[in-house]
Amino acid sequence: MIRYALLCEHQHEFDGWFPSSAGFEAQAASGDVVCPVCGSAEVRKALMAPGLGRGTKKGAKRSDISTVPDAAQKMSMMMLALRKHVEENCDYVGDKFAEEARRIHYGETEQHDIYGEATPDEALELIEEGVEVAPLPVGPPRRAN
Ligand SMILES: [Zn+2]
Repeated sequence: MIRYALLCEHQHEFDGWFPSSAGFEAQAASGDVVCPVCGSAEVRKALMAPGLGRGTKKGAKRSDISTVPDAAQKMSMMMLALRKHVEENCDYVGDKFAEEARRIHYGETEQHDIYGEATPDEALELIEEGVEVAPLPVGPPRRAN
């Protein structure tokens, strides 16, 4: 048996029990379903708004968060970790990066890992000279000065 919320042509709401959805259609079509209030046989199923309220919206919000692409999140985590690693293990040379990288490359100073600022032109020159440089991903750029 299925219980339906029903509505007559005069907007009287009532419940009816039917063997199946088809059973309801058949009984309604033959005028066997009548409104207990006014006796009208013009009866249809009331639109039922499932009782889902606020809880659903919260659930939706949670799922929104979880739909943030994992890959993007992982990438960002990796970049942060890499930057952290660089900052902890390399010497910051500021805008002397190109100069210092060259000195290391040509053996004018002790080999050590550095990071700092370089203009795109400087970076390009270094690469052309065969100095190993890599852009440091992420992060709010350090402010000059
Ligand atoms: Zn009625």
